[in-house]
Amino acid sequence: MNKKIFKVCFDMKLDKTISIKKSKKNKCEMLDGNITFFSNEEDFLLIGIELSKHIGIDNYNVNLDSNYLFETETNDLNSNFLSFGDKVKKLYEGLMLGSWKYSGHKTMNNEDSEASLDKSNLAKSGLMEINLSFDLEKSLLEFNNSNTNEFNQTLRDAIYEMNLNPELKKNYLKECLEKITYEIDEVRKICECTNFARELVEMPSNFLTPSIFAEKAKKIEKESENKKLKITIIEEVSGGILEVSKGSLEKPKLIVCEYYGGEGEILGLVGKGVTFDSGGLSLKPAKSMEDMKTDMAGAANVLSIMKLLSDTNSKKNVVAVMPCVENMPSGSALKPGDVISAMSGQTIEVLNTDAEGRLILCDALWYIQEKLNAKTVIDFATLTGSVVVGLGELFAGLFSNDDFLSESLIKSGKRKSEFLCRLPLHKNYDKLIDSDIADMCNIQKPGSGAGSITAAQFLQRFVKKDTKWAHIDIAGTAYTSHKSMINLRKSTGFGVRLMFDFIQNI
Ligand SMILES: [Zn+2]
Repeated sequence: MNKKIFKVCFDMKLDKTISIKKSKKNKCEMLDGNITFFSNEEDFLLIGIELSKHIGIDNYNVNLDSNYLFETETNDLNSNFLSFGDKVKKLYEGLMLGSWKYSGHKTMNNEDSEASLDKSNLAKSGLMEINLSFDLEKSLLEFNNSNTNEFNQTLRDAIYEMNLNPELKKNYLKECLEKITYEIDEVRKICECTNFARELVEMPSNFLTPSIFAEKAKKIEKESENKKLKITIIEEVSGGILEVSKGSLEKPKLIVCEYYGGEGEILGLVGKGVTFDSGGLSLKPAKSMEDMKTDMAGAANVLSIMKLLSDTNSKKNVVAVMPCVENMPSGSALKPGDVISAMSGQTIEVLNTDAEGRLILCDALWYIQEKLNAKTVIDFATLTGSVVVGLGELFAGLFSNDDFLSESLIKSGKRKSEFLCRLPLHKNYDKLIDSDIADMCNIQKPGSGAGSITAAQFLQRFVKKDTKWAHIDIAGTAYTSHKSMINLRKSTGFGVRLMFDFIQNI
């Protein structure tokens, strides 16, 4: 695959309303003098600005007298008080996310490498790496030089308004530059991991079986410089994971990932990894069945988040469990009416083999609490079609037994434009999955509706009373029917940036 490297230098002035005009070659300039970018790929920068609007910069007005360029504390993306540093990061994030494209399987690579604001051209631009750098040494040299660039001038103006002695001011500039260099690098890692999740979701199921998924996980561990990341593949599985996989020639894998950064209680992440969901004997209609290669988006997210924690050398303690199976119909497949035992020992009457996600998640939930000691557990799953009916492709469904956890997740979602809508849990919904012959059914009683809620109620039956738990149903948001400015393909990586934000703020 071809990687293009772009060196991008940002020069940014604050305080004006944005308008964009292309100027001389190799340079594009914002009118009203507020933002100037220098690059030999001007179109990409314009695209970056456009894309950034879609992930949260709607308003470019900033009050310079807020003094601190990098310390504006706001969680409201529509606020007028995004700091200079936050803006640069957003622009970079826009570039990184918006220029991603699935590497694909074409044997001829005759794609146009030129990109422009024309989105169809952008889609052809191929994978690229954007290298945004600030030259710290040079910037410091220029600090006292009249021939300073706009970026330093902006910093200098701001710093001189501060009531500090000259030496402190100089140190402050150095700190600012170091901080933004570090933070930009972090944004790069976040975007790379988001794009990694997207790549996995786009992959055809013959290129991403449970075994290949497990190999990819092991590869991450092997290639990681951070030795705190440990990944174990469990081949001998039981419970729902074994039952769901019985119809397929592909062997199930339970992927267990542990990362102990040292700080705080253990957070557990669970991701649904159905690498292809035919529905099993309760076969899905042929129309759009190809999209069922994406039924592992939850596991893709969770693996990407774990990679990100390792890449950024996080100080948090996070464990993850990803049950990976293929759900297929065959002579050995699980049958409607069968009663199975979950790993926890609870029995389940399987009324529909297409409600298989919960049959593997319940084991993963049990495992992460019993074996890995997670006190808070968050699961990601493309679980129900009902959530798409209710919320479409903008909001994911959130279910939780804890108000504070729920609020924190919603806030992280807002910061990342990955929106969550909390839906209810209630004992009367729970009754809808009672069974006459087993502990529970895997779907609700006919005609009672509430498919997403009863799926969550099912999962809750495997959550201990003292475990804080949230279930995020990403069936509508992981793989969308249309492209958007920051998703030129259909897979979104929805949840990776949200979860990283959440973990950083625990
Ligand atoms: Zn299914």
